[in-house]
Amino acid sequence: SVELQSAHKSYGNAVTVLRDVNLAVADGEFCVFVGPSGCGKSTLLRSIAGLERLSSGRLLIGGREMNDVAPARRGVAMVFQSYALFPHLTVYENLAFGLTLAKVDKAVIDAKVQEAARVLQLQPYLDRKPKALSGGQRQRVAIGRAIVREPGVFLFDEPLSNLDAALRAQTRFEIARLHRSFGQASTIYVTHDQVEAMTLADRILLLHAGEAVARHGSVAQFGTPLQLYHHPRSVFVAGFIGSPK
Ligand code: ATP
Ligand code: MG
Repeated sequence: SVELQSAHKSYGNAVTVLRDVNLAVADGEFCVFVGPSGCGKSTLLRSIAGLERLSSGRLLIGGREMNDVAPARRGVAMVFQSYALFPHLTVYENLAFGLTLAKVDKAVIDAKVQEAARVLQLQPYLDRKPKALSGGQRQRVAIGRAIVREPGVFLFDEPLSNLDAALRAQTRFEIARLHRSFGQASTIYVTHDQVEAMTLADRILLLHAGEAVARHGSVAQFGTPLQLYHHPRSVFVAGFIGSPK
């Protein structure tokens, strides 16, 4: 589970990016963050991962206070739009990297890497370097690297935006399946794509941008796709979600 209470974030003395974010993502829940460019989706995700520090507010993961806990100890795994694979390592080594670093037993690493490769259909490519893979294959390696760590929380920042439409649909389906197969893991997924948001989300967090943040806080609405669609709390929500007039 992931919980945010009165979370605020500003960079230096610049304007507040996130204001009064309250959110509870349950175990097993799939939550999607949406909102206009620059509204702070990535900042919020990176704050949960520990790559940014909240200016104030509480962050709880699995019920534990996390503000002062290092990223590696939060039980989260993040997948980026840009894959962030190691170019000099093979697919196998990329998948194994975090476990090798944590000095996990070689046989255990091998079992986990093989299982992730099977699930993501990466077995034929284990000896290749990333540059010899397609975009979709690279993104599957990035997802595999998150899986092998068996995190309590999966964080995805626009993981499909570099893929073509067909591959996007297929990978979206795989991510939904993976989430279900992990049972208790919470997934938080950032996207620009309305279809992705509506089809993947148990609940959607829609964030304000610009002047609305100061007036209303960052959260425009937090609810199920149907709640946002049928009962938008504001004209902004209705417009963003495309609710009928
Ligand atoms: P997009 O949909 O374009 O990816 P986003 O919702 O993910 O946008 P963020 O990347 O979280 O938005 O950025 C939110 C705001 O914070 C933006 O105005 C951005 O310019 C600003 N920002 C992000 N990172 C920094 C930083 N390191 N220093 C200062 N400002 C930053
Ligand atoms: Mg972003």
